[in-house]
Amino acid sequence: MKAKILLIEDNEQNRYLLTFLLEQRGHEVVSAMSGSLGLELAAKVSPDLILLDIQLPGMDGYAVARALKSDPRFKSTPIVAVTSYAMVGDKEKVLAAGAEGYIEKPINPETFVTEVERFLRLPGEEAIP
Ligand code: MN
Repeated sequence: MKAKILLIEDNEQNRYLLTFLLEQRGHEVVSAMSGSLGLELAAKVSPDLILLDIQLPGMDGYAVARALKSDPRFKSTPIVAVTSYAMVGDKEKVLAAGAEGYIEKPINPETFVTEVERFLRLPGEEAIP
């Protein structure tokens, strides 16, 4: 399934790498450098999935996830957090904020897209947790 993916990430190198990997597999990627721009873009493009960095300037990823999940338009849009935080409790915190999944940085370029695709819902199908 080819998907429209919104990538919210402030680091240019990460944005470049993740976009490259996803586009290589046929997905469409739109990206934002901050949480507030990400929320604007989400409303504009209605993505199939949102990849969300947690360490963002201004509004952090937790706040972005909460804002997205409190909006009926994005209630069923999977959010996958991508973060380098390796602190105990961080994964729980990100899931509590509304993300469906979590991928740790540094990402593995060999498996990253497959990990992301697990969270894409096909019509009439439940996402695989
Ligand atoms: Mn960041």
